[in-house]
Amino acid sequence: MQTLIIDGTAIAQTLRASLKPRVAVLTRKGLVPGLAVIHIGDNPASAAYVRNKIRACAEAGIHSELIALPSGASQSELLAHIKALNHNPRIHGILLQLPLPAHIAAAEALLAIDPAKDVDGFHPENAGALMLGQRGFVPCTPRGVIELLGHESIPVAGKHAVVIGRSNIVGKPVSLLLLQAGATVTICHSQTRELAEFTRQGDIVVTAAGRLNVLTGNMIKPGATVIDIGINRTAEGKLAGDCDFKSMLGIAGAITPVPGGIGPMTVTMLLFNTVQAVEARLQSPG
Ligand code: NAD
Repeated sequence: MQTLIIDGTAIAQTLRASLKPRVAVLTRKGLVPGLAVIHIGDNPASAAYVRNKIRACAEAGIHSELIALPSGASQSELLAHIKALNHNPRIHGILLQLPLPAHIAAAEALLAIDPAKDVDGFHPENAGALMLGQRGFVPCTPRGVIELLGHESIPVAGKHAVVIGRSNIVGKPVSLLLLQAGATVTICHSQTRELAEFTRQGDIVVTAAGRLNVLTGNMIKPGATVIDIGINRTAEGKLAGDCDFKSMLGIAGAITPVPGGIGPMTVTMLLFNTVQAVEARLQSPG
């Protein structure tokens, strides 16, 4: 079997091009979409993600502001910045780059973000909306998975989707979206015994464990679609996903590579959510 390697970079480019006319319409109305990114500390991986997001905004015609705080920034300092951004009319989306330093209470900080500007979809109001199938902001990576499956015309309804990972920002929301799309969903996690027994049943297997080689070719059904969300470093320092990629070839029907799979889709969905924030404001002014 020939395995299709899904080109997330190309799909992301197509989607970003489709966003440009929407940005242009808003800009003509004097509403340039604006995103603020708050980054605390000097974690090099986080700094790279932040640069990537800021660059993507510039390319899409979206105004962006970076609030870079020192690693020792206090909770009250962070909350004051969030409050100011909540009231800033040029800013329609606020993103708090995770992970946060240990002394920062992440839940309190995420709760402080105006749900109407919560383009990461981590505020309980948006998480609740997703749970109930109501309109709100959907977290970027999970939304990117669904968009990518749709773009590749990979059917979800009636299929068995197996998700590895149950985090609030990836595993749980992607499971809910797959459920909404009509899949039968199995969620596996660090306490799942005999992981392969579950993954072998998946027509679609989504890995979001953050563990190298958590999924190997002998753990999937021939023809399965494998979506690799994980970002890891190999012993040689190379970027890699959760899958033993080589062992998937010839068994998986389709697979997303790392890098070049879900990563570019995530940033693209951040742009979409920021534009959605402005359009939603237009529809319900005040
Ligand atoms: P997390 O650490 O919060 O959650 C990991 C989940 O995997 C947990 O629920 C845990 O139970 C499960 N898990 C860990 N080891 C396991 C194992 N051996 N078997 C089964 N389940 C296991 O991480 P997260 O924030 O959900 O992120 C997951 C991965 O996705 C990370 O590598 C992260 O860097 C990556 N990520 C990528 C993007 C992107 O844009 N591509 C975005 C967000 C996260």
